[in-house]
Amino acid sequence: MKILEQKILKDGKILGGDILKVDNFLNHQMDVALFNELGRDIYTHYQGCGVNKILTIEASGIGLACITAQFFNCNVLFAKKRKSLNISDDVFSTKVYSFTKKTEYDVVVSKEYLGKDDKVLIIDDFLANGNACLGLIDLVRKAGGEVVGVSCAVEKTYQGGYDKIAALGYDVYSLARIAEMKDGHIKFVE
Ligand code: 5GP
Repeated sequence: MKILEQKILKDGKILGGDILKVDNFLNHQMDVALFNELGRDIYTHYQGCGVNKILTIEASGIGLACITAQFFNCNVLFAKKRKSLNISDDVFSTKVYSFTKKTEYDVVVSKEYLGKDDKVLIIDDFLANGNACLGLIDLVRKAGGEVVGVSCAVEKTYQGGYDKIAALGYDVYSLARIAEMKDGHIKFVE
């Protein structure tokens, strides 16, 4: 999506460790008008697939998930990050390794809100190594639901998340695909 690519070039900052800082518009301050365009685009891609729930992970995916859900007319469920000690029987849980925090944590959703009738679109802000989205896929699988697709605002293609998730047969749709971040320059997939 050209408008997202242009926004990344204008306001994104490359940090060390292959991290793109976009907290000016995506995951701290949120550009709602831009989100609306992203949400519409995600809707156009998955329209007609029967999506009846959007699943994301706290906190950075929630904004885009909620705006997108308005197009699908469905609810958003966000997975919560927990300490292992607090996991109870009434949740589905999985483990996720965090790319940005370099640590593993548990993510949970209540069994009350995810089940076999759910046709789930997974949304997050970034797709890097794919761990966050694979964790969300695992939660849907444990609940007996169906994953319709996985959509992220920004994908760093060279980190392999797309390949892992697409190899499982899921429809992965990213709005801006970064091919390279080097020496302060960002190159998008043509
Ligand atoms: P993955 O699990 O795919 O390796 O990484 C995705 C998660 O890590 C996302 O939920 C996102 O919050 C965070 N993340 C990964 N790469 C970046 C990045 O370059 N910038 C920011 N701000 N977050 C990232």
